[in-house]
Amino acid sequence: METETVPLAPALARAVRRLTDAGVASPRFDAEELAAFVLGVPRSRLLLVDGLERTQLTRFDDLVADRASRIPLQHLTGLAGFRHLELAVGPGVFVPRPETELLAGWAIERARAVAAPVVVDLCSGSGAITLAVANECPDATVYGVERETMALAWARRNADARAAAGDRPVTLVQGDATAPDVLAELDGGVDVVVTNPPYVPDRSTVSPEVADHDPPAALWGGPDGLDVVRGLLVRAAALLRPGGWLGIEHADVQGESLPALVRRHPAFEDVTDHRDLADRPRFTTARRRKV
Ligand code: GLN
Repeated sequence: METETVPLAPALARAVRRLTDAGVASPRFDAEELAAFVLGVPRSRLLLVDGLERTQLTRFDDLVADRASRIPLQHLTGLAGFRHLELAVGPGVFVPRPETELLAGWAIERARAVAAPVVVDLCSGSGAITLAVANECPDATVYGVERETMALAWARRNADARAAAGDRPVTLVQGDATAPDVLAELDGGVDVVVTNPPYVPDRSTVSPEVADHDPPAALWGGPDGLDVVRGLLVRAAALLRPGGWLGIEHADVQGESLPALVRRHPAFEDVTDHRDLADRPRFTTARRRKV
């Protein structure tokens, strides 16, 4: 006997209205993602689904209510896509953003230009950049540094999953990425240092998803947002070999201030700022001077 189902289209339409009223930025996408999650199919196959079973409808409505209360979509599905990876995320870790895929892509490109490169990701969070580099640059030795215990637990879980899937294992270390003793054994030998640090200027307005669910330690960077970055520049200068590369993500309002800060640091040259797909200033790269 076939299980009785309710049609998907009206359930989706109601969900989209509810999410729109709640101020969710991408209501249709989120409603479809949640429906696909409940049905256990990719969103691209949603059109082929006839309907939802009663229990699935209840589950869908509950998830839509949670999303309307501005819990991040990725916390509800437990997953965030990042380049070729699906990462486990949830409370206690910063949800990786699509903008950061570009910075990771830059780091991968730099690493690929070197034989057996050594790459360090400072402020690793869920491990997104660390694991993307390991995934796309198989001969790289990759290190991730994270201070926060909860975030590190997510990174370890993701690293275990990637290693089980056949990627080269990465080394995750707990520590303050601005402290001189972190990975000190690598000093002067690193080919690429990459970082998406906390850089949001204090008193900035962020969405409820970010304010209430991303860890504050992953976001706030002091009055101009660059407090952590100042420390990271010192650490990166020590880690990098002469001619090695640094890439730092920044806020769209830091397209002048961050490159200026890097230019003032005597260890760096070739300072360039890069834009994201929305054409907003997004990350700065520089080269360790060959002294
Ligand atoms: N880009 C993030 C946001 O949207 C901030 C990330 C960070 O501070 N590294 O809030």
